[in-house]
Amino acid sequence: MPLQVAAPSERQQQLLEQLRQADRELSGQDLHALLRQGPQTMGLATVYRHLRQLQQRGLVRCRHLPSGEALFAPTDRDEHHLTCVDCGLSVVLEHCPMHDVHLHGPQTGGFRLLFHTLEFFGLCEACQQRQAQP
Ligand SMILES: [Zn+2]
Ligand SMILES: [Zn+2]
Repeated sequence: MPLQVAAPSERQQQLLEQLRQADRELSGQDLHALLRQGPQTMGLATVYRHLRQLQQRGLVRCRHLPSGEALFAPTDRDEHHLTCVDCGLSVVLEHCPMHDVHLHGPQTGGFRLLFHTLEFFGLCEACQQRQAQP
């Protein structure tokens, strides 16, 4: 946890809680809609601003689908994806291959590491078969 940075605000905690409770990644729109069902609503611009601050604190990571949609997940869930560049199908990797990889000393360039991202891209089976057809 970054020492110089104040603890996440109440609204950031709220967003983080929603992300932790979800069984999948959520977009800013998803979070906006979820919060609308509760007592505490939050404007979409505010949702994105807090998500950005959560990323800066190393608590939330973000990935972009080929469609351009940004999806958010808590960094304490070490989960990564394999995405088809053709149809956009995204599946969860069973294990994080980076889980036991640690940077040491000079490799970190003096950084205090917070989290990592990792994505694989390829062609899913269905798209491979479709492309193989004459
Ligand atoms: Zn595909
Ligand atoms: Zn990982």
